Amino acid sequence: MQQIQEDVAALGYHPFPVPLGLKLNESDRVESKCIRCDTCDGYPCMVHAKSDSDINCIRAIMHLSNVTLITEAKVTRLLANATGMAVACVEVALGDWEYTTTFSGGIVAACCGAINSAALLLRSANDQHPNGLVNSSDMVGRHFMFHQADAILALSLTPNPSR
Ligand SMILES: Cc1cc2nc3c(=O)[nH]c(=O)nc-3n(C[C@H](O)[C@H](O)[C@H](O)COP(=O)(O)OP(=O)(O)OC[C@H]3O[C@@H](n4cnc5c(N)ncnc54)[C@H](O)[C@@H]3O)c2cc1C
Ligand code: SF4
Repeated sequence: MQQIQEDVAALGYHPFPVPLGLKLNESDRVESKCIRCDTCDGYPCMVHAKSDSDINCIRAIMHLSNVTLITEAKVTRLLANATGMAVACVEVALGDWEYTTTFSGGIVAACCGAINSAALLLRSANDQHPNGLVNSSDMVGRHFMFHQADAILALSLTPNPSR
């Protein structure tokens, strides 16, 4: 890869390594959590060596008495309070979506990703907010963005064994 980097740089471009959140210690491989296996990228790391939210955030707080993680739960609506200005509780479908229950808290964070956070706000419409919550602009769910990425493919007669 170094040679490719140098060749591309010689053409006047500015290649740089992709920053990867892996717990890789190249100067001390025995102590390295990342073992540089064959499946990374879209696969779960079997030795917990990715700096992802599961490893770095969720697991790190699961021992706290005030933390509960509920899985297989689908938030169906955010229910606004009487004034329509704050979320009073969160409606959640549980048990294969067979029944719903509600949860309340001082702070409610909608973190369902770009599409589903917007969808949740839109389907939480009520009498005071018929177009969905926090949507007075009518912009919620619009202007979805996507990666703009190019790929360069180089053909060479020199085998490159890099992984
Ligand atoms: C194929 C792909 C490759 C990517 N590659 C990179 C990369 O290389 N580098 C990078 O920086 N970013 C990358 N991204 C972007 C990155 O993954 C996202 O920006 C990031 O995960 C967003 O985090 P988030 O917590 O906001 O949402 P998410 O990680 O999307 O989490 C949202 C969660 O909410 C849950 N959810 C949704 N609706 C509900 C509901 N109604 N009730 C309950 N739960 C719900 C979902 O199941 C999900 O678990 C990539 C994304 C994709 C799709
Ligand atoms: S999946 Fe493999 S290469 Fe990726 S962080 Fe884990 S051990 Fe390292």
